[in-house]
Order: sequence, then structure tokens, then C-alpha cells
Amino acid sequence: MQRSVCAACGICLASGLGGFQRVFASQENKKNLLSGTDARFVKDARFWESVGKGDMVKCRLCPHECTVPKGTRGICGVRENREGKYKTLVYSRPVSMNVDPIEKKPLFHFLPGTKAFSIATAGCNIECKFCQNWQISQAKPEDIDSQYVPPEKIVEHALDSKSQSIAYTYSEPTIFYEYMYDTAKMGKEKGLHSVIISNGFMNEKPLRELCAQLSGVKIDLKAFTEKFYKETCGGSLQPVLHTLEVLKEIGIWYEIVVLIVPTLNDSEKETREMCQWIVKTLGTDVPVHFSRFHPTYKILNLPRTPVATLERCHAIAKEEGIKFPYLGNVWNHKLENTFCPKCGKLLIRRQGYYTKIEGLKQGKCEKCGEAIPGFWG
Ligand code: SF4
Ligand SMILES: [Zn+2]
Repeated sequence: MQRSVCAACGICLASGLGGFQRVFASQENKKNLLSGTDARFVKDARFWESVGKGDMVKCRLCPHECTVPKGTRGICGVRENREGKYKTLVYSRPVSMNVDPIEKKPLFHFLPGTKAFSIATAGCNIECKFCQNWQISQAKPEDIDSQYVPPEKIVEHALDSKSQSIAYTYSEPTIFYEYMYDTAKMGKEKGLHSVIISNGFMNEKPLRELCAQLSGVKIDLKAFTEKFYKETCGGSLQPVLHTLEVLKEIGIWYEIVVLIVPTLNDSEKETREMCQWIVKTLGTDVPVHFSRFHPTYKILNLPRTPVATLERCHAIAKEEGIKFPYLGNVWNHKLENTFCPKCGKLLIRRQGYYTKIEGLKQGKCEKCGEAIPGFWG
């Protein structure tokens, strides 16, 4: 099992809530680690159809829409064509399990101060050159030792750890859709919320079905140009924007994270255009987190994002009308707090992963009564 950081976050390793991870680590030994070919991990995939003479499949789960010949896998590396039938290879096969503060995801307007039981499998449908979790996101399932942890066990662990939600995170949950969906459904029946931490690169039909089992979503909007998505991530922008539109229409709670990478997506023009699109299309209530880049994986030649750049993004967002912009990956910064957009009162104080609700009662500002958008429980 791996200790992982949030997809857009490089400084989360010392969350202080890692006791659950240590329990698993101590259980790990050669006996209970399972081989990559264990049939228990293989399950029928959803969202595909037969093409060609019947032995090829077309996956409809994400916008890549891979056409996969017999005996091979799609781009994500975790879905395989076996004799003309499409299979997921990562069902019940987490490579990382941790108890995290919900703020680590980050979700700031979602049950603040609570814990999220967080899981990931190997694999991802894009390849960000700055991925903080590339050891698992870019790995094949058979490359990493895993335990067999079916959905009912995840629910049990989440309840045991007093988590209020299950988070599907670290790698891209789209690619372990079946495992995530069944776990979220089971969790819901036991009173647990589910949240996804996603790149938003998912097709509309699976997204809509999944949202019926979820309470919250965090989307990484990695930039506002097709060039960045193509050259730095191997994805594309338009499907992600469409995902955000669908989330808005559904009415589920969602937040946006933008990792600001020096020279690649940090221009004032790009930030302003992104904020204008958000305000026009999604409205002014969606929290937008501008997060600090740290050199990693394939981008080692760029410096950490200057805090002043993030502050400038925050100022632009405010100017464009976004009510809840935040800074991310910046320890103990005032702009991680939540303030009332009407009277300015401090509503939620955050220092690292310390969270204190100070001026918010039943989703409203205690001072002026302004309703604050969010999933407050
Ligand atoms: S989920 Fe995987 S196999 Fe399916 S279209 Fe996306 S990358 Fe291809
Ligand atoms: Zn107020």
C-alpha cells in the first residue's frame, strides 16, 4: 500500500491522521499481498460495446473512447479486452488507503473538519507531467502489490475510522468506476457520503449515474487552454468544461482546483478567461482553489509557484466575481480561510489541516445571516 498525496497537492504527506494507513502497513507481508493475476480483481466493465467482428471493444467510459483489440488494454492500463469482453482489472484492488481530513482533498465547503476514508487503485486516463502520485497513477495494476478489499470492507473501514465520507482520490477514480460505484452505493446505504477527486475526464452518461451515489465532487481544472491539456496532460479541456456544466445542472456540490504551474498556465490572461468562464457558466458560488505547484515527476526544471502569483490569481478571481477563491498548498495563509462575502466575517479558520468553524451556523453567516453555499450536513 502506498501513502499518497492529493492529485494537485505536494505537501500533504504529514496529515497527522495516518493511523489507519499504519494499521494496513503493519498487516502487509508476503502472505497477504496478492499476485497481479488474482481473478478476484477482474470484473465485467461497464460502458463499452463490441465493434468490428465482435472481438474488439469500444470503451465509452471516458472521452478517449479507446478501441481495444483482443488481449490488450485501453490507455488507462486497467481495463482489458478478454476474448471480446471488456474487464476491469482493479475491482477491490486498492493500492492506497488512508484516513484524511476532507480539507486535504481539498473540499472546503463540504462537512468541514470531518474525515474521509480515501482510496485509490493504480491507473489514470491522462498523464500529467507534474503528477504528484505518478507512482500509482502511471503504474499497471500488476506492478503494485495490493490487498483484496471489496466494497463492503471499505465501508466497514470507513465506519470504524469514524469517517463521514469515502473519497475516491490520489489516482483518477474514473478508471476504477465499477469498484467506486459499488462502494459508494453500499456506503450510502450505511449513511456514508462519497466524494470523488477527479480530473473531470469522464463521459456524461457514467458521470450522471455516478452522481446519484455521490455527495460531493472536486474537479481539477488543469488549465484553460487545449494546448496545456494536450502537451502537459495528454487530455483535452472541452470534456472537462462539459463535466463542470453537467455537475452544475445536476446540482451536486462541487469545487474546482487549479494547479498553477509557473510559465505553463500562470498568465493573467488565462486566469482571467478561466474565471470569466466560471462566473458566466457556473455562477459565483463555486469555490476555486489556486494551488501551488512543486517540481515533481517529469517537470523538475520549474520552480515552486511563487505565493505572489497565487495571490494574484485570487485577486483576479475576486475581481471577476468569484465569491470563494482560495489558495492551496500554502501553509498558514490567510486566504485559506472562509470569509462571508457580504459582511467579511471569518466563518471557517484553517491552518494546515486544523479547521475551526467560527462564524457559520446552519450554513449561514452568524453575523449577517448570509446563506453560504456548501454541503454542511
Ligand atoms: S476509461 Fe480507460 S479504456 Fe476507457 S476510454 Fe478511458 S482510457 Fe480508454
Ligand atoms: Zn456575513
